[in-house]
Amino acid sequence: MLFSELGLSAELLRAVSEQGYSQPTPIQAQAIPVVLEGKDVLAGAQTGTGKTAGFTLPLLQRLSAHKPAGDRRPVRALVLTPTRELAAQVGESVNTYGKHLPIKSGIIFGGVNINPQISMLRKGVDILVATPGRLLDHVQQRTLDLSQVEILVLDEADRMLDMGFIHDIRKVLALLPKQRQNLLFSATFSNEIKQLADGLLNTPTLIEV
Ligand code: AMP
Repeated sequence: MLFSELGLSAELLRAVSEQGYSQPTPIQAQAIPVVLEGKDVLAGAQTGTGKTAGFTLPLLQRLSAHKPAGDRRPVRALVLTPTRELAAQVGESVNTYGKHLPIKSGIIFGGVNINPQISMLRKGVDILVATPGRLLDHVQQRTLDLSQVEILVLDEADRMLDMGFIHDIRKVLALLPKQRQNLLFSATFSNEIKQLADGLLNTPTLIEV
């Protein structure tokens, strides 16, 4: 399987080849075409499988396919992660793979001064990568509007539940438009994850690697 067979745009294929990747990993080969079609996905994937590019590449393509009207740059994709380290890593991947596209991204996590995040949000980002607690702080302070989110990604959902984020996640879900694409990535599938997936995903495509 080649990256060029997955339906990705020239800008994304260029970024991939600049990373030195010759072939998609199994999760990428399975997830990319499905996400590009706009379908919901439930994916079982450990760290190290290439899952980040598996959702980041098609996410970037879907967002770059159309622009919202006017000068506004509302958050159109939200990626939730359990930790600041993972948020930083995913944010870096978004930048790397999206470097040839006019897409802006931002990262938000707790434990640091909120003010630089507020000015970043004010300027506008298309893709926001965030940990749940600080994300809700921004919503409460009205420095963030999630009403235009088209795609939601829960990355390492099992770890988010292990860390006690279920209530925060449910609060975030309530703020999103009902009509949206949902991607859930998890290394394990407890009953709690299945319950979350059942309520969240719309006839998802199952991917296991
Ligand atoms: P992840 O599972 O998303 O944390 O990715 C694990 C590592 O694999 C990261 O360092 C990526 O840069 C790398 N990687 C992702 N996709 C590929 C690929 N198709 N070929 C080679 N390396 C890759």
